[in-house]
Amino acid sequence: MGQLVIVGTVAFDAIETPFGKTDKILGGAATYIGLSAAQFNVDSAIVSVVGNDFPQEYLDLLSERNIDISGLEIVNDGKTFFWSGRYHFVMNTRDTLATELNVLADFNPIVPEAYKKAEVVMLGNLHPLVQLGVIEQMENPKLTILDTMNFWMDNALEDLHKVIAKVDVITINDEEARQLTGEYSLVTAAQKIFALGPKFVVIKKGEHGALLFHKQHIFSAPALPLKSVFDPTGAGDTFAGGFAGYLAKTNDFTFENMKTAIIYGSALASFCVEEFGTKRLEKVTDSELKTRLQQFKELTTFNIDLS
Ligand code: AMP
Repeated sequence: MGQLVIVGTVAFDAIETPFGKTDKILGGAATYIGLSAAQFNVDSAIVSVVGNDFPQEYLDLLSERNIDISGLEIVNDGKTFFWSGRYHFVMNTRDTLATELNVLADFNPIVPEAYKKAEVVMLGNLHPLVQLGVIEQMENPKLTILDTMNFWMDNALEDLHKVIAKVDVITINDEEARQLTGEYSLVTAAQKIFALGPKFVVIKKGEHGALLFHKQHIFSAPALPLKSVFDPTGAGDTFAGGFAGYLAKTNDFTFENMKTAIIYGSALASFCVEEFGTKRLEKVTDSELKTRLQQFKELTTFNIDLS
């Protein structure tokens, strides 16, 4: 089993969906990634920053899941990153109402000494220069995965390109893949992204599943059709955490194994959307995960006679 370094925001989120509203709950890309990867009992560490307004209870929640938080800086007199969003009835679109960088604005990440040789690095959503800062501290990781979003394409595209050039895998959603490449076809978009550096491209399509591209190969995974979709926040990060966690656990970075990692990521993301924020993800059991993996199998297995 390998070690996993996770970078990304640890945040307060305020979320509005057609089913309810929350004020300042636990959120952030690294939080969702960490909780999702924790399902695999991998040795993981979060590198991020919060202010001293961040409750001890949230720090404990991460530690209790064996996530090392020695690389989570707490800034005195600082305010934690805050994001607020509103979902419409069709919840694959959302409006960002606020993004307050606060302590993230001048954050210098420090990877704990014990994690500099980690095999897998999961660069979750935050400023590309912070992601780059982490890459520079790592000693020869076997797999570096990048997740990013349109906010950084709009605000730091040049720096984002520098990070993209250095990673093995990129995970982005369909809209962002189109924005990054100017291509409507996701196949052409993936090919254009290969030219920027990554050898593997994962395109997340929300409730329509995910695609994995590598050279001439494509794998398509569905999303589980769910009865209750309550709050999609963090689904993308949960997917990335499951993907990275499974790869760190198995230490096998082949296309074949990445297919399985995508199914694990999708299964964990299917839990994430069932309750507000991290609530559902916090209590997923091994047997629930197994049942959902079985549902994925049934959903995608069929017989066809091609004789
Ligand atoms: P997702 O729904 O997977 O895109 O992730 C939502 C999470 O990302 C929320 O918990 C936010 O705190 C966090 N987030 C939102 N905007 C940003 C941003 N610009 N950079 C980093 N994290 C963000």
